[in-house]
Amino acid sequence: MALPSGATIGIIGGGQLGRMLAMAAARLGYRTAILEPQADCPAAQVANIHVAAAYDDADALDRLADMVDIVTYEFENVPVAAAKRLAAKAGIFPPPRALEVAQDRLVEKTFLNSIGIATAPFLAVDSDEDLAEGLSAFGGSGILKTRRLGYDGKGQRLFRDASAAEAEGVFAAMGSVPLILEGFVPFEREISIIAARAQDGSIMAYDPAENVHRNGILHRSTVPAAISDEVAQKAMDAASAILSALDYVGVIGVEFFVLGDGILLANEIAPRVHNSGHWTEAACVISQFEQHIRAIAGLPLGVTARHSDCVMENLVGDDVSRAQALLSEPDLVLHLYGKAEPRPGRKMGHFTRIGRK
Ligand code: AMP
Repeated sequence: MALPSGATIGIIGGGQLGRMLAMAAARLGYRTAILEPQADCPAAQVANIHVAAAYDDADALDRLADMVDIVTYEFENVPVAAAKRLAAKAGIFPPPRALEVAQDRLVEKTFLNSIGIATAPFLAVDSDEDLAEGLSAFGGSGILKTRRLGYDGKGQRLFRDASAAEAEGVFAAMGSVPLILEGFVPFEREISIIAARAQDGSIMAYDPAENVHRNGILHRSTVPAAISDEVAQKAMDAASAILSALDYVGVIGVEFFVLGDGILLANEIAPRVHNSGHWTEAACVISQFEQHIRAIAGLPLGVTARHSDCVMENLVGDDVSRAQALLSEPDLVLHLYGKAEPRPGRKMGHFTRIGRK
């Protein structure tokens, strides 16, 4: 049943993704309540209600459940216990199972392989000995990552032509937390798919974006990506398989590596709207944000075809000083997140340049 206009949607997390979800919800006639400890966060600036509390505050979760008709989230590290508590009281989309899979790189890659989606080779690392064995199995090269709570390249260490002796002391230096060693993928490009699954099981995917990172943070997404139709179709099929296997409702972002011979390896699942889908607000009739709200509200999904080619770029830290100059460019859509201080590495906004198709 579709959520009636005037209903309230709870959003866990108060960052820019929550902000853009709240704006899309408002356009469809919904109210929003944000759960976020930080005062004056980007999402609360445009929402109806701000519950200023920790994500695992049981009392605040119950208060949120009482004031909303449905809950969603804007980041993948929402405590699973909090998501389950809300699921029991108000209903939450995407399902908590998607959080469990996305929060742990080992669980995530094991899940992907189990449904026939290829990834980089990987091994669990819980000691220096595991790492030494893994490095020799992968020919001395690989990327060591924390299994949990790593994003934007944080909590990672690269090995090239490393001997087993180089493993010594690494487990402790990485914080003595569960790790995963991935074989190093000599990819030609990185792409992502933004797709949505509705409550009736229908699936719509946007065109793949080609992504370039700087210092581990997304810098630019270009659409169309320079890939063949076959590779694009393979990526869309993989995203669909993930959505169906998780009985998912909402928008998902899936990142892939494309190798020279067209081989596609999935890298990461984000159970939420995704930075590499921001271009959809400028180059598609229905943005990823509206698509997510439509899906969780039980409304029909919108068409995902793009009306324009485009390039989206993030404004990170002091890049935001370019904002005024950018506004004088024709065919450019600017989006700022309402953050006061432009700290290094902080996403302050983004812009999308529209080209002609
Ligand atoms: P992640 O945190 O897994 O998204 O990794 C951040 C970035 O590191 C990716 O976007 C890639 O550019 C690079 N990277 C991650 N894993 C690998 C891998 N197994 N092989 C080569 N590059 C990788």
